[in-house]
Amino acid sequence: MKILFSGIQPTGLLHLGNYFGAVRNWVDIQYDYSCYFSIVDLHAVTIQYDPKVFVGQIFELALGLYSCGLDPEKTKLFIQSEVPGHADLTWIFNTVTPLGELERMTQFKDKARQNRQNINVGLLDYPVLQAADILLYKGEVVPVGQDQVQHIEFAREIARKFNSRYGRTFPECQAKLTKTPRILGLDGESKMSKSQDNYIALLDSRDVVWEKLAPAKTDPARVRRTDPGTPEICNIFNYHKVVTPEEEQQEVAEGCRTAGIGCLDCKKKLLGNLMKVLDPIQERYQELSGKRDYVRQVLDENGAKCRKTAAGTMIEVKEKMGLNPVWKI
Ligand code: SF4
Repeated sequence: MKILFSGIQPTGLLHLGNYFGAVRNWVDIQYDYSCYFSIVDLHAVTIQYDPKVFVGQIFELALGLYSCGLDPEKTKLFIQSEVPGHADLTWIFNTVTPLGELERMTQFKDKARQNRQNINVGLLDYPVLQAADILLYKGEVVPVGQDQVQHIEFAREIARKFNSRYGRTFPECQAKLTKTPRILGLDGESKMSKSQDNYIALLDSRDVVWEKLAPAKTDPARVRRTDPGTPEICNIFNYHKVVTPEEEQQEVAEGCRTAGIGCLDCKKKLLGNLMKVLDPIQERYQELSGKRDYVRQVLDENGAKCRKTAAGTMIEVKEKMGLNPVWKI
């Protein structure tokens, strides 16, 4: 089986954007590859965060990911900072990375704009840590959206540079482009996120989901119930596309175009279909919440497995570089 690496940041509650943008895909492919899924806490500390709640957020994310259907027995879900090799390999990769290439990264420019008060070296070095995340496990496949392709090309370039200087060590990882729908927030304008307060959390109850959906933005041209609408430009219809069966989607679209249904009817249908996705996740979350020791134990075991694999890679790297290859697990 090919080795696959992917990471997710512990930035708060899992929401629909995370689920349909990444997590559902992880669940779908978990048996097709040897999967390393990482909660990338070292990446998360490059921007403002609250250390008092951080450790709880990390564990909650693990619970959430297992609740979404990750198989604790099959996938190696682990916490990045519990494997020292990530930071160690980053330093080594720093020595083969031209500064100019990092400065050109689109994500660095965006993040630097958003975090003017804290443009730290970690923000600049983010793609190098990302390359280390993947290559520490000799990852061959990385599922990403289009916006991350540049970083995977960069990781491939680092692997090439290291291999040409020290001998073949790392595979040239490939991006596996995932056809993820773009899930906008309830405002219909920006990406769904907790900080924008435009999200539906995976653990929101039916009542809370409805409180959020009822006032959510629709086709702005559909002012009155009798106005025909255009589902193609309506954010609510985009949500239908990810949870509503095809045939029912067509009925909704037709009802919208002919003003046969109102927006509240349409949202009620959406609520029903959305809860078919959320109910099993929430049931599983309740179940796992009573087994926190078990989840912690699985994370510990996965951390140990990853440290072992990482140690093998680091011994090889250090030997090739003429460094003392002793490496403590
Ligand atoms: S009926 Fe549905 S798809 Fe049409 S505008 Fe209203 S919410 Fe959007």
